[in-house]
This record gives sequence, structure tokens and C-alpha cells, in this order.
Amino acid sequence: MGGANEVRTVRLPSGEAVAALGQGTWRMGEEAGRRAEEIAALRRGIELGLTLVDTAEMYGEGATETLVGEALAGIRDQTFLVSKAYPQNAGRTALPKACERSLARLRTDRIDLYLLHWRGSVPLAETVKAMERLREAGKIRHWGVSNLDLDDMEELVEAGGSACATNQILYNAGRRGPEHDLLPWMSAQGIPAMAYSPVEQGRLAKAKALAGIARRHDTSPAAVALAWVLRRPDVIAIPKAGTRAHVEENGRALDLALTDDDLTEIDRAYPAPRRKVALEML
Ligand code: NAP
Repeated sequence: MGGANEVRTVRLPSGEAVAALGQGTWRMGEEAGRRAEEIAALRRGIELGLTLVDTAEMYGEGATETLVGEALAGIRDQTFLVSKAYPQNAGRTALPKACERSLARLRTDRIDLYLLHWRGSVPLAETVKAMERLREAGKIRHWGVSNLDLDDMEELVEAGGSACATNQILYNAGRRGPEHDLLPWMSAQGIPAMAYSPVEQGRLAKAKALAGIARRHDTSPAAVALAWVLRRPDVIAIPKAGTRAHVEENGRALDLALTDDDLTEIDRAYPAPRRKVALEML
């Protein structure tokens, strides 16, 4: 498996390069008995170069951010930390407070990328201004959004949000809807996508359609699912792995080059969209 220096990167609109393969954390920190293993898995991932860590104030109502803060103790500077604010906290007075709470739980002085978790009732223009203020104050380094379909993204840019660094969306071999319009639009704007649930919450790790390809490459279906997402140069994948074995298996996706035959086989099992599919959410 490649060392930290060989990990592929994706460029944010600012020009900064981040690891193309990161780590999700949803449902971590919720069970005391799993805590040590989850922290060990995250630290192992960072050792392997999966230095982008995604979390949210929603996860475990703060318990996950607390676990992430613990996992990153002493290695925070090697990582690119992403967190998300609830839509109801995306206004001008609530956002700075939510950000301070996240910073305290994460035991850090800045969030590298702060996202609006999904669209709520706060006008996008107000969220953009609140994000920009946090950036000017040095509390966050970049901001972005999550779960925004094309019409919302167009509105965001109209509302002054052209500095948006990413849109974190549900995207994997079984959820190809964004390929029709959202991903091409984002590529044209120079906004990379961050694919969440890239192994479909574990279901693609058991997918028969990926098993044969995995065998040919002497790897696992999970690694095939991740390599498939990473075939697009401006997509970041953030699988969640609660064990060291899973994170090591996922890291193998970085060394896996799918062939044209592999891709054709995946297209047959999971056809690309032929028309608009509304963005799905998990
Ligand atoms: P996921 O990463 O597709 O799948 C996670 C599940 O797959 C876990 O049950 C994990 O089990 C299992 N798994 C991971 N690697 C595996 C492997 N190599 N072999 C077999 N099973 C494996 O799903 P997700 O957690 O929903 O999505 C990833 C991250 O995206 C989240 O953790 C979160 O950070 C983010 N997310 C964001 C949103 C949003 O609205 N913005 C929504 C969903 C998710 P173990 O835990 O036992 O390893």
C-alpha cells in the first residue's frame, strides 16, 4: 500500500490539495465499547495518508466530534478537518456559536472546511456571509455545502457563494444520479465533489457485481467501489471504517486502477443515468 506521500489529491478552488480518499465518522463515538477501536482506525487511516476527516455537529449530537478531537490529539496538523453545521444553525448569529462549539469538541483552533449540512430555511446569502465572516476571523479556512442539487447550487453562486469549496453529496456506483447534470456543472465551475456513503453504508462491500472484479485484482469489493468513485479526478471519497482492517482495505483503493473492462462491467450492473434524477440523501 502506498505511503502518505503517494496519496492522490484533489484541488480545492483555492488551489490547495487535499487527500482524494478521506475518512467519514458518522456513528463513531456513540458506543463506549467501540471507542478505542474507532480511534485506532482513524489514526491508522491518517498514517496511510487518508488525512481528510469528515464529521458534523449532528453526529452523536457532538459525541462524534469529541471522539475525532481525541483521535487527532498530537496529529491535528497532519490532517484536513471537515465539519458541518445543522441548517438551523446556518444563520448570522447561530453559525459562529455552532462553530465555537465544534472547535471546542474538536480541540482545535480552526476547521479546515466547514459545510452547511443541508439546506434549511436560512437564506443561502445569509449563510454565505456568515461563512465568509468565520473565514476572515480564521475560525475556518474554507467553506462549502452538502446535499445541494443543481438548482440550489446555481442559487448559491447567484447569492455570492462562488467561493464554495465543495458540495458533499451521496454518490457511489449504485447512486449515479449526479452524473447527469450536477457533477458536470460542478466540474465546469471548478468545485470538487465529496462523495459520501461511497460504499453505500457497507452494502457495496457485499455486492456480487463487484466481487468478480475484486477477485481479478486480488482486492475487496469495497476497494473496487472506492476506486470507482475515485476514477473521476475531481471527486473526493470519504468512507467510514470503524476498524483498522476496514481502513486498510479501503486504503488499497488508492493502488487500484480499474480497467475499461471493469468499468463496462460496472456500467452494466449499475447503469449511468439517462435523465435527471433528483439528488438523493441518506
Ligand atoms: P459508507 O462509508 O459508505 O459505509 C460505512 C459502512 O461500511 C460501515 O458500516 C462500515 O463498517 C462499512 N465498511 C467500511 N469499509 C468497509 C470494508 N472495507 N469492508 C466492509 N465494510 C466496510 O457510509 P457512510 O458512513 O454513510 O458515509 C461515509 C461518511 O460520509 C459518513 O461517515 C459521514 O462522515 C459522511 N456522510 C455525510 C452525509 C451528509 O448528509 N453530508 C450523509 C451520510 C454520510 P465498520 O464501521 O464496521 O467499518
